Amino acid sequence: MMKSVGFIGWRGMVGSVLLNRMREENDFLKINPHFFSTSQLGQDGPIINNIVFKNLKDAYNIDLLKEMDIIITCQGSVYTDTIYSKLRKSNWKGYWIDAASTLRMKNDSIIVLDPINLKVIKKALNSGIKTFVGSNCTVSLMLMALGGLFSSKLVEWISVSTYQAASGAGAKHVIELLKQMGALYNAVSKDLSNNVCSILDIIKKVTKKIQDDNFPLQYFSVPLAGSLIPWIDIDMKTGQSREEWKGQFETNKILDSKNQIIIDETCVRISSIRCHSQSILVKLNKNISLKNIEEIIINHNKWVDFVPNNIEETIFKLTPSAVTGTLTIPVGRLRKSNIGDKYFSVFTVGDQLLWGAAEPLRRMLKLLINI
Ligand code: NAP
Repeated sequence: MMKSVGFIGWRGMVGSVLLNRMREENDFLKINPHFFSTSQLGQDGPIINNIVFKNLKDAYNIDLLKEMDIIITCQGSVYTDTIYSKLRKSNWKGYWIDAASTLRMKNDSIIVLDPINLKVIKKALNSGIKTFVGSNCTVSLMLMALGGLFSSKLVEWISVSTYQAASGAGAKHVIELLKQMGALYNAVSKDLSNNVCSILDIIKKVTKKIQDDNFPLQYFSVPLAGSLIPWIDIDMKTGQSREEWKGQFETNKILDSKNQIIIDETCVRISSIRCHSQSILVKLNKNISLKNIEEIIINHNKWVDFVPNNIEETIFKLTPSAVTGTLTIPVGRLRKSNIGDKYFSVFTVGDQLLWGAAEPLRRMLKLLINI
């Protein structure tokens, strides 16, 4: 019998990317889907295989949720905080798949990224684990890029600087970034077309607009267009932001590491719309050649696209605009570091809504459907 799968948060950024991937892969033919909402109860849901799913169910109704074999939520931490423990306390024994970070730290949850940790997932399934959570987006993308080095146990430590897209913060933030961009353009649109105004005057007008009280700042609190924000998520009071803290914790949990691999990050929000980029310095535990490193990276998984370290291929292939909407993980700028033989640097980009969020959840759902 087909499993009943409840979808929550399906109209958000991650949820809509998840639904699109499931449509592309014909996953809906293998399940009995039910759509819930926190805000649009009774309204029309998504269109799947030309059928409109009418009458959205109440995502807060525990009795309705209990009827599901599997729940997959992309709604966010507040929802998970409110519902998950109530549902488990009601004796629901189904599988819970989640994009939010809330449950990642729990001992009885597994962080899923099957090209990296399928063995860990299968072991957990056999031991009766029922809660599976997607990882932080930069963590997933870093592991997809450098998975070969981790599985060969070559990594001593990693230092990461991230360049994270606005969509990593959700739908409302993307809309605000575009409003900010529009406000900047409108401030100088006439000057841009008449070719008379000096560049310094244009910059002055744009800067004035950025500092204007009416600049759209409801969600980011500060300008992102024409600027950047070197802080993502809450303060851990250790000097790190929570986004930075997740790097080491989640990587080691995904890998089920016996010895902690040190990972240190500086996470920065930039004004790209979709796709996170990362500049990574790696210390290996032995000196191996660049050619060898390249082969290990390429051979790990079919989504890695190795970009030779030259200008032309780098600027056309190793950017958010080149990979947006695809599962490709370009890895490039590979070079040995001046620091020493065991150190190399590398740059990678990936669509944080696909491998960074929706795709590992979709693949986990597929594993569960086939149980
Ligand atoms: P989001 O786009 O803000 O969507 C979350 C919910 O917001 C939707 O399900 C919808 O709920 C509501 N919503 C309100 N206004 C909306 C609008 N204009 N368009 C669409 N939805 C709107 O959040 P998200 O980025 O998908 O993130 C969901 C969870 O995944 C979060 O826990 C996040 O931390 C995690 N995550 C996100 C990313 C990422 O790159 N964005 C990556 C990894 C993990 P109702 O329909 O019930 O109103």
